[in-house]
Amino acid sequence: MCASHVIIGDGIAGSSAAETIREADPEADVTVITEEGEALYNRILIKEFAKGKLPEAPVSIHDPDWYAERDIDLRLDTVVTEVDTDAREVHTYEGDVFEYDKLLVATGGTPTQLPVDNSDAEGIHHFWTFEDARAIKADAEAAEKGVVIGAGLLGIDLAAICGAQDVEAHYLMRGNAWWRYALSEEGAEIIHDALREMDVTPVFDSGVDHFETDDGGRITAAVDPNGERFEADFAGAAIGLNFNTEFLRGSGLELDDGIVVDEYMRTNVDDVYAAGDITQFHDVILGDRAQNGAWGSAKEQGSVAGTNMVADAPEEEFRWVSSYSITHFDFPFLSFGHPTLGDDSVEKKYDEGTWRRVALKEGRVVGGVLIGDLAAQSGLKKLARKQVDVRGNEDLLLEEQIDVDAFEETAAAE
Ligand SMILES: Cc1cc2nc3c(=O)[nH]c(=O)nc-3n(C[C@H](O)[C@H](O)[C@H](O)COP(=O)(O)OP(=O)(O)OC[C@H]3O[C@@H](n4cnc5c(N)ncnc54)[C@H](O)[C@@H]3O)c2cc1C
Repeated sequence: MCASHVIIGDGIAGSSAAETIREADPEADVTVITEEGEALYNRILIKEFAKGKLPEAPVSIHDPDWYAERDIDLRLDTVVTEVDTDAREVHTYEGDVFEYDKLLVATGGTPTQLPVDNSDAEGIHHFWTFEDARAIKADAEAAEKGVVIGAGLLGIDLAAICGAQDVEAHYLMRGNAWWRYALSEEGAEIIHDALREMDVTPVFDSGVDHFETDDGGRITAAVDPNGERFEADFAGAAIGLNFNTEFLRGSGLELDDGIVVDEYMRTNVDDVYAAGDITQFHDVILGDRAQNGAWGSAKEQGSVAGTNMVADAPEEEFRWVSSYSITHFDFPFLSFGHPTLGDDSVEKKYDEGTWRRVALKEGRVVGGVLIGDLAAQSGLKKLARKQVDVRGNEDLLLEEQIDVDAFEETAAAE
């Protein structure tokens, strides 16, 4: 009898698992369920679409034919409402029941809504799907003044969309710097200057207290907690993600701001796996629980899960140093690993546009941020992957090139 694999979510994690399963087992039944109305597209590129820099076609990755050709049953516009792990069934809002032998949950997250008055007004956007990008593009094209809330990796995409669409914007940040958990003020200042150049003004120690609207329910302004008013006919908010686990209530799966899995992407329930943004996974490099929010990591987790779902015993572990690039500026920006973790860090500003910070935990590299010059990325990622003890040589982490062998030899000699 052929095994029945059900995958919830057709993001990059779910889709790469489906592809891996099909390659490993040509006979298996594979079903992919997604609440979205379109098959896998490149979530990384939807910001370029919203900026007006890219048409729709290259954003799409698979069309429904891709699934049909591989005999994968794709269910669009289908919302999973319950998983019964005793009966091994997946229930949908539309009334379908899917039986599984192996289940993968790859449902990612949904943007957290701003908990302030009028945050549902027209012209205020959260950003996750291609549909969101279409609405953002249409509104940004027509807007003159904007506000952006959320000083992180998705907030800066919204700021860059304002820049590209000639929306004069204020970027309201809670602290004194953009992404202050990963960058110092000195590093963030390079980003602030680049934002100012695109007519996006950072406003520090701010945020939003409430929005004002016109009689038609459209945003006219954002008022920050200090009482300062910023006129706006467009707003973008990116204050975090809520992980899509509500349909797993009562399923017995261990949840903790996501789904807890081991290094093989197995949950605590037999034959149920999870992959992608949704996972709180055992990071074999850190030796600790961790969560990633990056395309490459989600793709790899999907592939690892797919391999292990088909195998009789766990075959492949997830061992990965994540990377995330920002391409909005005329200089490169890369964060890798877990730049917000660690108990120590070293950093250096090399010139007006070049800066580096390396985060350390117990003398090992766990992540970092490179601005302006990415030459050190491969060496630093290797040190992180191998967990080389760099104690006593921290200054060398700030050299232009990273000599991994030298670090390893010193560590071995001690
Ligand atoms: C605007 C934007 C820009 C980004 N830029 C970058 C970048 O530059 N670099 C980078 O590395 N990463 C970037 N990311 C992050 C990256 O896209 C994600 O880490 C990755 O897409 C996660 O993939 P996933 O498959 O885990 O989840 P998702 O892509 O979120 O897919 C989950 C799918 O599950 C579906 N689903 C959820 N609940 C249910 C349900 N109950 N029933 C049925 N279906 C359901 C969802 O609709 C969705 O289609 C960006 C993300 C966004 C939104």
